[in-house]
Amino acid sequence: MSASPNTPSLEKGSANLSAAKVKGHNESLPAATAAVTAATSTQKYLWTELPRIEPPKRNAAERSADFKEIYSLFDAETVQAQASRCIQCAMPFCMMGCPLSNRIPEWLGLAAEGRFLEAAAVSQATSNMPEICSRVCPQERLCEGMCTLIERTDPIPIGAIEKFINEYAFSHGGVEIRKVMPNGKTVAVIGAGPAGLACADELAMRGYAVTVFESLPNLGGLLVNGIPSFKMEKSVLDRRVNILRQRGVQFVPNVTIGKDIALSELLAQHDAIFLGMGAQKNKELDIPGGELKGIHQALPFLIEKNLGEASKLPPIPVQGKRVAVLGGGDTAMDCLRTAIRSGAREAVCIYRRDLANMPGSRREYKNALEEGAQFEFLTNPVALEGDLNGCVKQVRCVRMELGEPDAKGRRKPYPVPGSEFNIPAEVLLVAYGFDPVPFPPNTEWSQIQVNDWGGVIVDEYQMTTLPKVFSGGDQVRGANLVVHSVRDGRKAAAGIDRFLKG
Ligand SMILES: Cc1cc2nc3c(=O)[nH]c(=O)nc-3n(C[C@H](O)[C@H](O)[C@H](O)COP(=O)(O)OP(=O)(O)OC[C@H]3O[C@@H](n4cnc5c(N)ncnc54)[C@H](O)[C@@H]3O)c2cc1C
Repeated sequence: MSASPNTPSLEKGSANLSAAKVKGHNESLPAATAAVTAATSTQKYLWTELPRIEPPKRNAAERSADFKEIYSLFDAETVQAQASRCIQCAMPFCMMGCPLSNRIPEWLGLAAEGRFLEAAAVSQATSNMPEICSRVCPQERLCEGMCTLIERTDPIPIGAIEKFINEYAFSHGGVEIRKVMPNGKTVAVIGAGPAGLACADELAMRGYAVTVFESLPNLGGLLVNGIPSFKMEKSVLDRRVNILRQRGVQFVPNVTIGKDIALSELLAQHDAIFLGMGAQKNKELDIPGGELKGIHQALPFLIEKNLGEASKLPPIPVQGKRVAVLGGGDTAMDCLRTAIRSGAREAVCIYRRDLANMPGSRREYKNALEEGAQFEFLTNPVALEGDLNGCVKQVRCVRMELGEPDAKGRRKPYPVPGSEFNIPAEVLLVAYGFDPVPFPPNTEWSQIQVNDWGGVIVDEYQMTTLPKVFSGGDQVRGANLVVHSVRDGRKAAAGIDRFLKG
């Protein structure tokens, strides 16, 4: 795609970033950026000649036959060229679109010059797991969705470049295992998901002795149990966990706080606690027929298919069957694609709003579509009908139409009278989202206040209503994104540090 270089709104790109103050960010960008900006400003209009390129993706037939990652890395030359399309604008909206305020223009400038290790170092300065976020973030809604180039052409492929520079750093010894002098204080982290891992990492780098307690045998939370390998292979997470271990973080799997160890015991033994227990309480299906055989919640299905026998969950066979998935988020997309890889005859998504109002990532929707998933938009299930053996046979549905936007700006769906119809399905997967698991009532946990859907209430430093106890991630926000959990984990670590230093 090309566009006129004489674009006043893009002229601001030549401004010196080192002087720029970004809204919501107090620091001026470092002087290194100025050099990068100067070097790349001559290429300011490269985007007019060079279209965006997507990272290499395996074809749908090949990739739907296995669970391996579907994208591979750009080559170095493509990274340099694509990074050179960045106009280094004075007001880097991409940074504002990133919950971690990643210094994207800076590392794009360095990548454009082939200085990949330096680029990776800048990217690691604000993110505890850039190689993970680059794989799973819905960039089209975050950094890439805010790229200034969108006014004229396609955005910079920020996620794919972030993935390349960080993989380059891993394979060229560019990931620093910084160990610092212990400061004599200890912190317990409950939950080894991205929130807990990011908090533990930040605290370890500040000299705290950190122990992470995890109720499951494997570490990573939904990164390992929920997110399928075709989006991120498990070895990527293992590598990151090993870095934390090398930084001195201790992991205690198979221990549930509140059951195996009391919260009060942990409080007595540590200077502070971080709760990163996530939100894994299923939102239930509340329509007639819910008791039929063949109806499953999304998470046990994904965990069983993700981990196999190690999950210790009963297998949910879908080979040769028609699978219907209820919901329109990332979990629903993952269920569809997992069902296809597990041999389902059909995988149909039933979602009550339209595509424009669907919460799932557009990239993952496109990938699911290419792999053969079908979509019934503006459709709501009203009942499940079974066969003589009590197994689900079809989903009775009604067509929907959208009304006015609600408080969150999403248009509310209403049923169309007389529009009922059936969708055949022998397996039904419910992907309606998750809430935090409620604390046991009338226990020591009751000192931690929660809101009306069970989200933990925190102050601006992520501290809960129980002093010394901090929280973040899905447990505070409800089901959300990896990058927000990383942000909360980092923020809580800074809050804990501030609290313990008085
Ligand atoms: C199927 C699926 C796909 C997703 N895809 C994406 C995606 O593509 N991109 C994206 O950005 N986000 C995605 N998400 C969302 C993302 O995974 C979550 O927002 C993120 O993992 C939340 O991180 P967390 O650390 O807050 O919680 P979690 O990842 O849920 O981790 C919490 C951990 O705490 C442990 N725990 C709970 N209670 C205790 C206890 N009492 N004692 C000890 N341990 C305990 C749990 O076992 C768990 O391991 C997806 C989610 C799902 C379910």
